[in-house]
Amino acid sequence: MSRKIMIAGNWKMNCLQKEGTDLAKNIALNVKKNKYNCDFLVCPPFTLLSNVKKALRGSKVSLGGQNAHFAEKGAHTGDVSPQMLKDIGCEYVILGHSERRTDHKETSALVAKKAEAAYNSGLKTIICVGETLEQREQGKTIDICSKQVKTSLPKNATAANTIIAYEPVWAIGTGKTPTAKDVEDVHAAIRQVVAQKFGTKTANNMRILYGGSVKPSNSKEFLSLPDVDGALIGGASLKSEDFLAIAKSVC
Ligand code: PEP
Repeated sequence: MSRKIMIAGNWKMNCLQKEGTDLAKNIALNVKKNKYNCDFLVCPPFTLLSNVKKALRGSKVSLGGQNAHFAEKGAHTGDVSPQMLKDIGCEYVILGHSERRTDHKETSALVAKKAEAAYNSGLKTIICVGETLEQREQGKTIDICSKQVKTSLPKNATAANTIIAYEPVWAIGTGKTPTAKDVEDVHAAIRQVVAQKFGTKTANNMRILYGGSVKPSNSKEFLSLPDVDGALIGGASLKSEDFLAIAKSVC
């Protein structure tokens, strides 16, 4: 079993062309110069994908979208299909981020449908799960995350085409984080659910990232945990120094 650490940046709805391409160029340059033993991924907004792809050329930094529709094409104003992401050079797509589950009422069933479409287009997915503060306070964290994993991953998810990101909703962008023990407990529980649904081999090989206020000052603690295989980083991925310092703390 070997799970390579993944350092993934979710840029959300940030950066205009110059800022985004400069950020991508800085990351690419540094990744080329230094020998990090991890995978890198950046997920800019749709408007930046083309230029960021160019800025990353020749580096080992992968490109991802932040969402996709489940249909290949058609009458879906404002949406983007998995095929379109693949066509522009994406390798990954983030699905089921809590901001989409909240802002766009995305359900786990919809996330699974999108994931299936993403695999059919040759994309890999990062499927996000996580509890709200209320659910945590009610002691439902593991139940909620387990249910989301069971229902958001479609039957054809594999360790090669899927990464899970555990992101407590209350930790995203707030500076608050769970304890390392809490994170390890949830990741171990998620791995158990994956084992029940897909078998032990898949569970042992599937990467599970932690996301929620990861920064250079706390990354080592989280990324050294046995069931944590990398980070999905929001705010700190918008500064190349911070994004790379997080990688440096473990890779
Ligand atoms: C995220 O958006 O996935 C995230 C984890 O954000 P932040 O790192 O800013 O908490």
